[in-house]
Amino acid sequence: MKNILDRFKFPKDARSDFQFGRNGAVDLQSTTIHQRRDFLKNGLLGGLSLGMALDGSPEKEMEFITQKVKRDSKPSELKITDLRIAHLGGVPFNSPIIRIDTNQGLVGWGEVRDGASPNYALMLKSRLLGQNPCNIEKLFKEIKQFGGHGRAAGGVCGVEMALWDLAGKAYGVPVYQMLGGKFRDEIRMYADTPEIDDPDNFAKKLKETRLDKGYTFLKMDFGIGLLANKPGMLTGANVWKLNQKDKKSKTVGAYNSTKHPFTRIQITDKGLEYIAEYVGKIRAGVGADIPVAADHFGHFDVNTAIRLGKAVEKYQLAWLEDLVPWFYTDQWKQISDAIETPTLTGEDIFLKEDFIKLINAKAVDMIHPDLASSGGILETKKIGDYAEEHGIPMAMHFAGSPISMMANVHCAAATENFVALEHHGVDVVGWEDLVTGDKPLIVNGFAPVPNKPGLGVELNEEVAKKFLRKDSQWFAPTDQWNTKDSWDRDWS
Ligand SMILES: [Mg+2]
Repeated sequence: MKNILDRFKFPKDARSDFQFGRNGAVDLQSTTIHQRRDFLKNGLLGGLSLGMALDGSPEKEMEFITQKVKRDSKPSELKITDLRIAHLGGVPFNSPIIRIDTNQGLVGWGEVRDGASPNYALMLKSRLLGQNPCNIEKLFKEIKQFGGHGRAAGGVCGVEMALWDLAGKAYGVPVYQMLGGKFRDEIRMYADTPEIDDPDNFAKKLKETRLDKGYTFLKMDFGIGLLANKPGMLTGANVWKLNQKDKKSKTVGAYNSTKHPFTRIQITDKGLEYIAEYVGKIRAGVGADIPVAADHFGHFDVNTAIRLGKAVEKYQLAWLEDLVPWFYTDQWKQISDAIETPTLTGEDIFLKEDFIKLINAKAVDMIHPDLASSGGILETKKIGDYAEEHGIPMAMHFAGSPISMMANVHCAAATENFVALEHHGVDVVGWEDLVTGDKPLIVNGFAPVPNKPGLGVELNEEVAKKFLRKDSQWFAPTDQWNTKDSWDRDWS
């Protein structure tokens, strides 16, 4: 029987892979999109009606007519089928990368917060299997009970990022668009820089590895670690081991896990003079024009924090971060009221409620959520929006891979009071190569907001495998996490 291709003289060399159904019509199931387009073009040019060419089937006609409509997925039928992890190291810290698979071949990428266990995400798998990832807020409300402050939030927030990636890919839009659109096209990054004992070397490093690369906003560490083992600079420090190098000190407990007011360490006038001189050298090296924030001062009480704040006031630092733990709201207010350098905290706070408390109490001048602890993309936008309504700016803490960075970039683009996003990976060779997407990710200290669907980047498997921790397997099966075995409701 003469088939439809003969009837309109479809070129012989282009027809070999076509399959034919009854009456010689083309079987659409077994032709490629490219072939279908050629068939339609040639067929209609050959005077064939659409109905004739497609054997009169309305479904087939509809498929033909809409074949150029971009439709990666049927969002209403999308379902989560798997959740796996590849635990990367040296990013610069540990970054468990989450991959969520679906029944339609779409893959969503997320990331557990730096330094947190992959298990925080894996234990959520049984709560997610079979669910539609596009119902982000519904799923977030189901799983947020398994998050907590600091690293304990890592799984909940990392999964939330992957859900946004999937929803964006399913609907063909970038995440920022689903959040209400952009306030800006590029995201200002601020480059973190760990402490160096010699201030001249520190200033040189800031200049050569940050400013010369185009960064316009810096953060430095300085604190009582600089004063340890220098006579006359600290009171009460001799019973604590202030830094790893310090082998000699007697200890009355673990310094790192003793909350600030309980160490009773104080900085003497001599110590404050040393710190002020140190900061002054760095300010002179960097210049007055560049905002420089500061962090990691050490564990001392509210009075010493105020004395330190006053000692460095004239160097106009962008903010002083985490002088005391975030949950001492009254102490934060005491510090903020006493000094004129902006105060900031929040990188370990989970969910908006505790940010609201800080903002309502006027306890800090700025907030600093880490999206991988604060509740993910939407919760962080809600936090930013609440702060914005109260005239409080939002900087963002971040110390992960480009996957988590992109979650931050979309949130920052869509949140009005955003100031700058942290970057801990400036010195990590190959950091940007961990993903594919529009490159470079950062141009002169700013990250262009991607317009691709979802987060806008995909894990670059070849490069990421080089960062895989020795104790991790590359997205190994996680069937042991498939079964939900508890009654999870957190209310009665
Ligand atoms: Mg910090």
